[in-house]
Amino acid sequence: MARKKLATAWLCGCSGCHMSFLDLDEGLFDLTEKVEITATPIADLKEPPEVDIALIEGGVCNEENLRVLKLFRERAKVLVSLGDCAGFGCVPMLRNFFDKQDVLDRAYVEAESTALGKEPDEEVPKLLEKVEPIHHFVKVDAFIPGCPPEASAIRTAIEELAAGRLPEGKIDLQYE
Ligand code: SF4
Repeated sequence: MARKKLATAWLCGCSGCHMSFLDLDEGLFDLTEKVEITATPIADLKEPPEVDIALIEGGVCNEENLRVLKLFRERAKVLVSLGDCAGFGCVPMLRNFFDKQDVLDRAYVEAESTALGKEPDEEVPKLLEKVEPIHHFVKVDAFIPGCPPEASAIRTAIEELAAGRLPEGKIDLQYE
């Protein structure tokens, strides 16, 4: 049976979910019998490839996150929220307790270590008003919870998806 193509990406996350995935160690070699890993954040691809399964880590914080997420949705048959930041917003959503402009001023105008005297015009993607989980923007087919998810849980989920099995029952994370 042909291997399924798998891509992983992180948006606004700490990369801990990907670190957990790497904790599979030699188990990653076993997985490659079932999936072909075609893209990861290490490759820093700007244009996601067409894949069978995409695992997305992190919340949606800025316009670049949103652009990448929408491309993955167009090009992946099955799109999975990897970890609580993708599923609920979790840690990056703490920014929502503050005014966006105050956050930008604190980072670029006031902080001694990074002060530019103004908000950068280019190079830094524009922040969205609020950080949101990925299902607020695109349809999500499955969710692997945890902060980070256990490596074994990620492996089991990938094996199930590679076998063509989606979680039974209703996925509560619905595109709104
Ligand atoms: Fe990091 Fe936890 Fe968020 Fe994963 S769910 S990106 S480990 S904070």
